[in-house]
Amino acid sequence: MLYTKQKTKEGTGFVQLLKGQDMPYFPIILLVFYIIIMRLYAGKLVFQSEGIEHEEVLKEEKVFQKLLKQQMVLYDEKMDLESEALKIFTLYEMTEAITKSPTEDAAFAILKEKLSEHVIYKNCYFLDPLSDEINKYRKIDDFYVFVLRDKKSKTGYLAIEGLSETDKEKVMILGHQFALSLRRVKLYKEIEKIAITDSLTGVHTRRYALERFQEEIRRSQAHKIKMSFLMIDVDYFKKFNDKYGHLTGDRVLRAVGKIIRNNIREIDIAGRYGGEEFCVVLPDTDSEGAKYAAERIRSAAYVAVVQAYDAKLKVTVSIGVSTYPKDGKTYNDLIDKADIALYQAKKEGRNKVCFFGNEPK
Ligand code: GH3
Ligand code: MG
Ligand code: MG
Repeated sequence: MLYTKQKTKEGTGFVQLLKGQDMPYFPIILLVFYIIIMRLYAGKLVFQSEGIEHEEVLKEEKVFQKLLKQQMVLYDEKMDLESEALKIFTLYEMTEAITKSPTEDAAFAILKEKLSEHVIYKNCYFLDPLSDEINKYRKIDDFYVFVLRDKKSKTGYLAIEGLSETDKEKVMILGHQFALSLRRVKLYKEIEKIAITDSLTGVHTRRYALERFQEEIRRSQAHKIKMSFLMIDVDYFKKFNDKYGHLTGDRVLRAVGKIIRNNIREIDIAGRYGGEEFCVVLPDTDSEGAKYAAERIRSAAYVAVVQAYDAKLKVTVSIGVSTYPKDGKTYNDLIDKADIALYQAKKEGRNKVCFFGNEPK
């Protein structure tokens, strides 16, 4: 706007520069309007931008709330995972302890101990796979029956009383580990049996039999009890080899091994001493008892008919007997004395039982 101060006749004042116009104030009014409109427009713009900012704040707030929720969910998940990890770790510890057990009873004892630490239950029974007793537990509501299996068959049952629904999963995991440990124990026993068994005759190896012999001498010494030792030799064994061949000779040895195993007690220890010689350790047995045991073996061999391929063969054995402590105090002494008695039996015509020293009545 251009104004100027001019001197008029009436004195100093503002006069419109554009003289001669009808509306001398028009530009001023225009200007005022312009200013008002501009201010209104500016106000509107400010209002609009304030609205946009508000919306954005709301949006950000929503995002923030969402993230907060997600954080809480993640925290819950983290806590759940941590407690799961703890459970798994505990189960791992339990299974490790169970699977290391050397016997079925030891594995079951650990299973029960670990169950009491982590699961609420009243009683737990381990039953044989052939047991009928399991049907009794199946009929009782408060019993949970878990079937133990290995790859091929049932290996037993666990009958657990007073188990809650939520703990069943844990029991299933532990039950599987227990089944695995039973299988491991079984395999271990089989391997052990193979290692100490003579594959041809089925009696123990010489090494194992002699180890057990020494153990039994120590036990007899400690308890001041008698024990006896038999040395058994197949009579004229060479002739089987010579006449029918070694395979037939092996069949005869297998048959003699079986005869010996079938005619001794559970606690007696039979071994293959070497070639066609066998030995038997008779714990807690005096010479009279040894006579009975030796005669039983001799007569069983005597009456047996050995089917070896096409041939039906008759076989006899001679037996020498020594007794602790009268004939010797060490296993070497007792073996030597039994050998002397065996030699005597051969000399007296074979198919005979002879004793070191006097024959018992
Ligand atoms: P005796 O009545 O005096 O005991 O006569 P024997 O023929 O049994 O005695 P000897 O000790 O002379 O013969 C034992 C034979 O047993 C010699 C050996 O070749 C044979 N023999 C040893 N171990 C085995 C085996 O594992 N298999 C076979 N087939 N023969 C064996
Ligand atoms: Mg011999
Ligand atoms: Mg012989």
